[in-house]
Amino acid sequence: MFDINKIIRKNIKNLTPYSSARDEFWGDASVFLDANENPFNFPYNRYPDPLQRELKLKISKIKNISPENIFLGNGSDEPIDLLIRAFCEPASENIVAIEPTYGMYKVAANINNVEYRKVLLDENYDIKAEKVLSASDKNSKLIFLCSPNNPTGNYLNEEEIKVVINNFDGIVVLDEAYIDFSSHKGFLETLINHPNLVILQTFSKAWGLASIRLGMAFAEKGIIDVLNKIKYPYNINLLTQKFVIDALDDYDKKTNWVETILNNREKLISELKTMPLIKRVFPTDANFFLIKVDDPIAVYNYLVDKKIIVRNRSNVTLCEGCLRVTVGTDEENKALINALKGFE
Ligand SMILES: *Cc1c(COP(=O)(O)O)cnc(C)c1O
Repeated sequence: MFDINKIIRKNIKNLTPYSSARDEFWGDASVFLDANENPFNFPYNRYPDPLQRELKLKISKIKNISPENIFLGNGSDEPIDLLIRAFCEPASENIVAIEPTYGMYKVAANINNVEYRKVLLDENYDIKAEKVLSASDKNSKLIFLCSPNNPTGNYLNEEEIKVVINNFDGIVVLDEAYIDFSSHKGFLETLINHPNLVILQTFSKAWGLASIRLGMAFAEKGIIDVLNKIKYPYNINLLTQKFVIDALDDYDKKTNWVETILNNREKLISELKTMPLIKRVFPTDANFFLIKVDDPIAVYNYLVDKKIIVRNRSNVTLCEGCLRVTVGTDEENKALINALKGFE
């Protein structure tokens, strides 16, 4: 049985968090003389809401989940780091992740001096629960899964994910950064059944807001409370909070972008599949995909010469010969195709 008190670090459990002026009083008043702010230059003179209440309320309606189950961070990078810091004792405890996957889990583990254990995906870039679970031991606090996975693009087997969640005493972090592009709904609806599940989503991809830095973590209240306890007090600035509150009114814009990107993806993939240069296009459930070529470095450098940048993933385990292509606008995709046609 999952028990957060058994896995949280003792110093975090016992921590008295910083209490800001806005923690002590948040609400309606006419004179604010409590935070040593400049009284001029409203609204930028004021510290923002440390718990982003208005923004969370809006997100909660869109995601159909209670605000108390939402943590907001400076990108997904923040909850990734905070989860490791809250639950993993440096130098003795570990996290488990699939391989290949998003590079930040490993970097965050290394920064925190937490051992990082890799479990190789199978030849279809999919997981076997048993293999993931058997890489863990009593010192494993977190398992990181990413679905659709980066850089492979595929949606991981849901049944296997469930077996991992149901048989792990620590926390499973499921990164769904690309879920809006997927034909699957993801795990958010099932959060209620999984007290040891954290789902990460982001405004950086489908919402087109990578620059404003806003990531979401969804989990049971106990886990969210721990993240709030250790975050920087004002981790989401006012400009970001305001901007996203407005952006959320335009849900259709995001839906249309996703539809356009998925259409463009299918066009781009079918073009690439006709080209002898492209040995393989991997299945994808995201806004990017892997292509395999004989000489990835030559193709990469050739494209750079043409001012087109793709991601060279050929040095990544199981991605030998592969470049990762993000789906762009029609024009951008045509530029890629035309350039590739000229490769000798
Ligand atoms: C792009 C991406 C993110 C987004 O990170 P942010 O810090 O929210 O911009 C998260 N996870 C994965 C796997 C990604 O590829």
